[in-house]
Amino acid sequence: MKGYDAVVIGGGPAGITAAMYLARSGCSVLLTEHMATGGQILQTEALENYPGFPQGIKGYELADLFTAHLEGLGVDRSAVTVESVSGDAGQFSVRAGGEEHAAKVVLVCTGARHRQLGLEGEDRLRGRGVSYCALCDGNFFRNQTVAVVGGGNSALEESLYLAKLVDKLYLIHRRDEFRGHKIYLDKIMHLSGKIELVRSSVITGLHGDNQLTGLSVKNLKTNDERVLAVDGLFVYVGSEPATGFLPDGIACDAQGFLVTDTEMRTSIPGIFAAGDIRSKLCRQVITAAGDGATAAQAAFVFLEQLHA
Ligand SMILES: Cc1cc2nc3c(=O)[nH]c(=O)nc-3n(C[C@H](O)[C@H](O)[C@H](O)COP(=O)(O)OP(=O)(O)OC[C@H]3O[C@@H](n4cnc5c(N)ncnc54)[C@H](O)[C@@H]3O)c2cc1C
Repeated sequence: MKGYDAVVIGGGPAGITAAMYLARSGCSVLLTEHMATGGQILQTEALENYPGFPQGIKGYELADLFTAHLEGLGVDRSAVTVESVSGDAGQFSVRAGGEEHAAKVVLVCTGARHRQLGLEGEDRLRGRGVSYCALCDGNFFRNQTVAVVGGGNSALEESLYLAKLVDKLYLIHRRDEFRGHKIYLDKIMHLSGKIELVRSSVITGLHGDNQLTGLSVKNLKTNDERVLAVDGLFVYVGSEPATGFLPDGIACDAQGFLVTDTEMRTSIPGIFAAGDIRSKLCRQVITAAGDGATAAQAAFVFLEQLHA
């Protein structure tokens, strides 16, 4: 078992930033990421709101820049899933891919996964018309008809991306007003020939045995139900935190996101959390990176107190 000052779990913007700050402070660091480093930005076509890139930047380009910043800092990397964290501050054990790693502190930066609609057939039709990533799957629907469900920034941004590929797009939202930024909504309004807004409506059924062929959609104001013929459905109805590997009893909010103080300390001494995994208002790259820096600094102070 190799021992580290800090094990950082998750290699998205929060984890990369935390690992970078800790390594620059002279700590020994293991960064564990079971997919490619970059996190959710790898699923984003372009980011228009990250400072320093007024023309926008492709998600994979920003992920590459973030990852490159780790080079030469001596951060060890592991590409397996963290299965559990046990023990106490100063002597945590992080189990990943069947191996145990000792850590004095743990930084949880595991972000969030897509929430599903919970409809019958959703699992069966995943990859057969139902998708959670426009950037990954949009190209399969070139010149076809798709629907996007959701009302936040992800739904709006990804609708704009898909509109460049498809012939027709229904944007379905259960409320009248969209939560996403006005700048995206304005762009969507300019594409009214291609994007049809289906407001105050929910999807009540998915059609198709081996391939999605359509959706039953119910208008919540009139109770009218109709079937939309679509080849694809992209789901952006929020996200769920990835916390299953953490000790029982760690404080979470009602949605399961980790509760921290302003220094990113969780309810368990020595375990810090940063980024989308936290209970917070704004889940963006800039806030994840900011959390990562704060968590690293707080962890560094904690390590100094352990050694004192
Ligand atoms: C479609 C879409 C569009 C977006 N557009 C924008 C935008 O325009 N601007 C913006 O600022 N933000 C945008 N966001 C949000 C932004 O991507 C996130 O807020 C940010 O990536 C959060 O960073 P994070 O490091 O907290 O988590 P994540 O990016 O979710 O990274 C967490 C990482 O942890 C890894 N992980 C999870 N569990 C484990 C485990 N047990 N073991 C090992 N590794 C694990 C995951 O594989 C993942 O790589 C968008 C998100 C999506 C989905």
